[in-house]
Amino acid sequence: MSSRTPLIAGNWKMNKTIAEAEEFISGLLPHVFAADGVDIGICPPVTALQAMVDSARGSAVRVYAQNMHQADSGAFTGEVSAAMLTELEIQGVVLGHSERRELFGETDKALALKVPKALEAGLEPILCVGEAEEERERGDTERKLRHQIQEGLAKVADDRLADVVIAYEPIWAIGTGLTATPEQAQEACAFVRALVAQRSDDAAQRLRVLYGGSMKPDNAAELLALPDVDGGLVGGASLDPASFAAIVEAAGA
Ligand code: PEP
Repeated sequence: MSSRTPLIAGNWKMNKTIAEAEEFISGLLPHVFAADGVDIGICPPVTALQAMVDSARGSAVRVYAQNMHQADSGAFTGEVSAAMLTELEIQGVVLGHSERRELFGETDKALALKVPKALEAGLEPILCVGEAEEERERGDTERKLRHQIQEGLAKVADDRLADVVIAYEPIWAIGTGLTATPEQAQEACAFVRALVAQRSDDAAQRLRVLYGGSMKPDNAAELLALPDVDGGLVGGASLDPASFAAIVEAAGA
C-alpha cells in the first residue's frame, strides 16, 4: 500500500459568492471533522479566499487558489501574485487547469515559471495536465502528457519535485459526465509518475498524482483505489457539501 496521503481538492471554478461559500463550508465541516488519512482542499474563486481561510481555520480543510501569476508584481491587470495568496494564508494553487489553458491562453512556458514560483512561496502547486479527445483518439495521450510535464516541471529542482501535485485530467472527461475508465486513469497516472521517475525515483514515489474528470460519489471509490491515483481534483461534485464529503470519505483510510 502506498504511503502517500490522498488529496481530494474541490475546484469551484467561477461559482459561489462569499455567502454561498460560507453556506458550503458550514455544511462541509461537520462531515469532515474527523476525516482521517486524507487531505482535503477547496479552491474557491479569489473573492471568497479570505472568507474560506477564516472559516476553515483549525479544521482539516485547506484552501487553494485557482490561478496565480508568475511575477512578483507589476502591470498584469486582473492577476494575483504568490505573495498576495500567502498573505491570505492560502496553502496552495491550481495551475494550468485546462480551462485556463483553453480559454485564457495559459501556456506551458508560463507554467514553467509558475510552478517553481508557487513552491518558493510555500504554496503547494497542483499542476493540471491532460489530453483532448482528438489527442486520445490519435494515440497522442502520452506525447501530450510528456510535453506538459517536462515543461511544467523544467525549472523545479529534483529535491522539490515531490512537493508538486500533478492532476491528470483528460479534457474530454471534465464537466462532461464522461469519466475515464479505471484502466485509462491508472495507465495515465502511472505514466505521469514514470515521467517524474526519469528525473528522480524517490520523488516519483512520494509525489501525489490526482485524477480529475467527472469524479462523483458513485465512481470515486473505484478510481481512488487505483495504485497510482492519490486523490481527485473534483469540479461539479465539489459544489455540494454532501457529495464532496462522500468523495472525501471514499478516499479515507
Ligand atoms: C475540473 O474542473 O477540474 C473537473 C475535474 O471538473 P468535473 O469534476 O466537473 O469534471
